Amino acid sequence: MTTGPKSSDAASAPVRPSGVDTSPHPSRSHPETHRPAWLEVNLDQLRHNSALIRSDMPDGLAFLSVVKDDAYGHGATEVARAAVETGAQMLAVYTLGEALRLREAGFTLPILLLGERDPDELPHCLEHKLTLSLGDLSIARRWNELAGKAGQEVGVHLKINTGMNRYGVRWDELPAFLNEWGGLRSLRMDGVMSHFAQSDEIDKTFARQQLERFHSALECLARGGIRPRWRHHCNSGGYLDLPEAHFDLVRLGILPLGVYPSAVCRRIPGIEPVMSLRAKVVAVRNLRPGDSVGYGMRFTASAPCRIAVLPLGYGDGYPRIRNTGQAMIHGQYAPQVGSVAMDTVFIDVTRIPQAQPGSIVTLMGSEPDLTARDLAKWSGTVCYDILTGWSSRLPRRYLSTPSIP
Ligand SMILES: *Cc1c(COP(=O)(O)O)cnc(C)c1O
Repeated sequence: MTTGPKSSDAASAPVRPSGVDTSPHPSRSHPETHRPAWLEVNLDQLRHNSALIRSDMPDGLAFLSVVKDDAYGHGATEVARAAVETGAQMLAVYTLGEALRLREAGFTLPILLLGERDPDELPHCLEHKLTLSLGDLSIARRWNELAGKAGQEVGVHLKINTGMNRYGVRWDELPAFLNEWGGLRSLRMDGVMSHFAQSDEIDKTFARQQLERFHSALECLARGGIRPRWRHHCNSGGYLDLPEAHFDLVRLGILPLGVYPSAVCRRIPGIEPVMSLRAKVVAVRNLRPGDSVGYGMRFTASAPCRIAVLPLGYGDGYPRIRNTGQAMIHGQYAPQVGSVAMDTVFIDVTRIPQAQPGSIVTLMGSEPDLTARDLAKWSGTVCYDILTGWSSRLPRRYLSTPSIP
């Protein structure tokens, strides 16, 4: 097994066994990074967004940076680093592996694991000082036992299920949970949290109901003499639109990436997308009337036209759309035509004569009508799905070098 070179020590890259490459993430110097289709991650914009959010935040409000799923495809260590630089109190991820990679990258601040744990994961969580969000009594008991055996008292965040019905203790079953909690001597409740099912739409009815339930849970804790340091309920949408739900801490995932959780939530001027998807034109086809393009012949030329062939497709996470999208080339929008293939996107450049092999095309970015939300709209999904959907086959290019944590 070889783990592949790290980006910083390309000169001493280990020799790979012939015919085998186990490296899941090509380093920056790997030939694959020269692929003519890539994701660009603008770290300056990321830092700028973070600073704008920071100055938008009311005094005393803390935030944690949610960098699960490789920070929605942007690179967990890069995004975490920017968050730490702007004063994040904690990081949060979903899987144990994600947390371990952050520890390996040198992040020493608290890492909150979202969701539930499998019992087999617990020893590793203890070893790497990870903070659990607990919402299950049997896991709480095991966690307590493990910490007790190690002679430690560990901080946890209690997760309250206020209506999402995903993770957590139901708000109205908290008294029963607390009866047991008193006996879990090795656990300390550092936080109490919940999560909105809908925080970023205009109708806040259900969000308010969840908030009421959270308040009743906090009162229940207080009656038992428990006042956790960190009370938190907000994701990006909640942060933007529900100031009454800020409590002590907000959990920001998508907002620092410059993408708004919905079309209708509050805007912070100056925030722009951090990620762009670009490709080089690899061929231009001159079509005659009646010629069609690609699988299923989904586009047929009615007049002479020029079609640019782009070397990426749904195998890279580009949505499998037909005649619905667009891209930008030489500052002009060009419609996406035909059906997106695993490795190919076609755009109509009939009216853009400068478009030639080698021309750079933007398929997603900060241009109006070319954001992650637009791609989501064309393909009937949400912007989160678009951002996290880019495959590891697409190299990431970082536009500025982040400082060391
Ligand atoms: C993913 C996640 C977040 C971050 O949500 P954004 O909308 O990206 O800010 C916050 N809290 C929990 C529990 C999450 O799972």
